[in-house]
Amino acid sequence: MSLMNTRNPYHLGVSLASVGGFYPTLRVWRYGTEFGGGFRFLEADPTKPEDELETQSDYSFNELADHLLGLVEPIRLLTAQELERKGFVEGFGIKEDLEPSEVVEFLNRFGQIGLADYLRLAKLQRKFTIDKGELTPEQALALLEIPYDYLAIVQKSYKEEPKKWRSMIRKIQDGDLIPFGWIQKDLFDLARCIRILLALHRNYIDSKTFFSLPATRSKELRRFLLASEAVMLPRGEDENYLPLGGKKGDPWGVSEQKIKSKWQEFAVNLNRFLTPITYNAIIARLEGGLTFQKTLGIETWLIYEMLNSRASIIERKCARKSCRRPFVGYRSTARYCSDTCSAVERNRKKRERDRSKDSSGRGQKKKQTKGRANAKKKTVG
Ligand SMILES: [Zn+2]
Repeated sequence: MSLMNTRNPYHLGVSLASVGGFYPTLRVWRYGTEFGGGFRFLEADPTKPEDELETQSDYSFNELADHLLGLVEPIRLLTAQELERKGFVEGFGIKEDLEPSEVVEFLNRFGQIGLADYLRLAKLQRKFTIDKGELTPEQALALLEIPYDYLAIVQKSYKEEPKKWRSMIRKIQDGDLIPFGWIQKDLFDLARCIRILLALHRNYIDSKTFFSLPATRSKELRRFLLASEAVMLPRGEDENYLPLGGKKGDPWGVSEQKIKSKWQEFAVNLNRFLTPITYNAIIARLEGGLTFQKTLGIETWLIYEMLNSRASIIERKCARKSCRRPFVGYRSTARYCSDTCSAVERNRKKRERDRSKDSSGRGQKKKQTKGRANAKKKTVG
């Protein structure tokens, strides 16, 4: 059984279902839209039959976490210009939407995401009225995250193309089509969970993992507030931007209630992402083996691997000034997010040494490097 129980707001005991090695399902996804662009989704390649599901196993969990943190930007404060343009007062933040093409590339490389939440999926499976009525356009709007502006188009399709409508709903029920809204939410929530896991101190009680968070002002609480997005920073700033708040128990002006709700949200998301193996632990005794490969994605695998790992892993910032990308540090010596950044810095230091040795003082023209863009491409490829 996999259970997370919050004994009090800032403690979390972890007991994971015992499953043999498993890996995220890898399918070929393509981006599509319906209802005049109101419904965005990823659809699995229909030519690949379900009994030939492949899995992805050629990377380590910290490699996946690195790429996830590279894909999802943390929430940030709007700049003065943005505030003025939108007519907002200070304190508003923005969570950058994900670019569908980047999401497709990510899923096709590392594995799927978006099917682990059985509760969300179950809402589509049930009959919607006592007389076994179907999902209505109004209900579809809410469940599939279609903006309200598109209601008229959805209603028209429901009336005029019932076959197409039903086939689309069936594909979602079967896990062959995933609303883009679900995928984006899960990528955002997963990135938050990963950063929180990296921020927390882990303890072991009777060989079980146990997380706790000090409620008082501390570096750890500060990291948690950032990772859970309880506080926002301007783009490019890190946790040294603001000092902890002055009042006792009121770091950065975040109320205890908000910290508590962020902690609970963290526990809820962990459970949400682990659902396939939790269910499997119950069913496997009857049927043997993994029964839910189709719903197993990177969210379940990554959380499971990170909770199981005894490695001391923390979030680091690339030591290269022009990069500063967050990455998951494995080795205590790792200072750069990628081999590219490490090589660029090595060369820079070498040039510095050479220059200081060069008594004639002939300055060599510094070569411009496009480190960050290259680093990103290189690690993805
Ligand atoms: Zn870097």
